[in-house]
Amino acid sequence: MAPANPLRDLPSVDELLGREELAELAARHGRPLVLGAVRTALARAREDVKAGFPQGDLVERAAAELERLLRPSLRRVLNATGVVVHTNLGRAPLPEAALERVREVGAGYSNLEYDTAAGLRGSRQDHVAGLLRELTGAEAGLAVNNNAAAVLLALAALAEGREVVVSRGELIEIGDGFRIPDVLARSGATLVEVGTTNRTRLGDYERAIGERTAVLLRVHQSNFRMVGFTEQPRVGDLARLAERHGLALVDDLGSGALVETADEPTARSSVEGGAHLVTFSGDKLLGGPQAGLVVGRAELVELLRRHPLQRALRPDKLTLAALEGTLALYRAGSRDLPVLRMLDESPESVRARAERLAALTGGLVERTVARTGGGALPVAEIESYACELEFALAEPLRHGDPAIVGIVRDNRLLLDCRTLSDAEIDEVAEAVRRCR
Ligand SMILES: *Cc1c(COP(=O)(O)O)cnc(C)c1O
Repeated sequence: MAPANPLRDLPSVDELLGREELAELAARHGRPLVLGAVRTALARAREDVKAGFPQGDLVERAAAELERLLRPSLRRVLNATGVVVHTNLGRAPLPEAALERVREVGAGYSNLEYDTAAGLRGSRQDHVAGLLRELTGAEAGLAVNNNAAAVLLALAALAEGREVVVSRGELIEIGDGFRIPDVLARSGATLVEVGTTNRTRLGDYERAIGERTAVLLRVHQSNFRMVGFTEQPRVGDLARLAERHGLALVDDLGSGALVETADEPTARSSVEGGAHLVTFSGDKLLGGPQAGLVVGRAELVELLRRHPLQRALRPDKLTLAALEGTLALYRAGSRDLPVLRMLDESPESVRARAERLAALTGGLVERTVARTGGGALPVAEIESYACELEFALAEPLRHGDPAIVGIVRDNRLLLDCRTLSDAEIDEVAEAVRRCR
């Protein structure tokens, strides 16, 4: 088919929309959406025809456009990077028990803020406060949207209009331009920097304490490590110094952990060390939903709970449901959470998975280094194994559904198998077959 003016051969929008298959789609998905897909398909076909290509099957093209429009924006991704808590890929995959709680609580009404025993209004914070106390040994606990919010709330409640003393070695940027000193400023507190980048002593803190001081703040260095000639006071020494001056010691653990995980500090060790408030993330090493947790002295936690910002930073019911489900696993002594499973798995077992993927795809097994991610244990190298495939697959695998994100290095694609499950290996193999 080669008419004189091939553009004239294209149907009108209405004509195309009227074809049986597209009319059916319009009835099912609504006319505006299908109309948009038809317009885009026709515009693309016009470009193709102008460039000397055939217009193709326009109904098929419109249906493909519609499929793209119907696809959710927030989608599943297979993480083949070997970074367990990958901030760009949604951090912690949730444990099954947490997902069950979300489904149960989200599908209907709940006792979110209702005390069923008393028949009175209750507090949403009560659903996790007990678990937080039990798991950290603290007097009280509170949950907010994320750890940045936890730090903001703690400083706003304890130090607004007053001074917060921090070591120069802890004024960190966490990622995406998010810096601790900026959060601190937003809380209405004034930052007082002490010490030097590599060494800060107890005496540095002590000299900075004045009439306006309210808080000594410790911030976990999270995403970097200093080695060599370094010094930071221990949490216990800082806590005693704070108490001598009637101040509070706030310890931002960043990732934090509830159980021993390499040398990452646990919330319990910080509480036992004497920190008055301890803040940490719900979706880093803890392996739960995005949340910020604050535990510590009852009267201080109560100040946070009553602060107006708490209302703006409080978590929603789905987060609380997932958090309670996650914390309950820890209470049961379980390490059966995806994040901990991936970190705990033996190199041999990861290697066996890489070998299976290599056998299915004709790739090669390569030794790699996996990472914890999420600002925890930045220098800890976890022995891992990847399946090496041709570089040309990187882009089509990323465009697939689910997208597969691996490591591109030296013109090769490495699919790290520490962060892929057994079932996902089959999905990756299938995707590789489709892309070749
Ligand atoms: C990650 C991190 C935060 C922020 O935690 P989010 O849960 O991402 O808001 C704050 N402080 C430190 C030290 C961190 O590592």
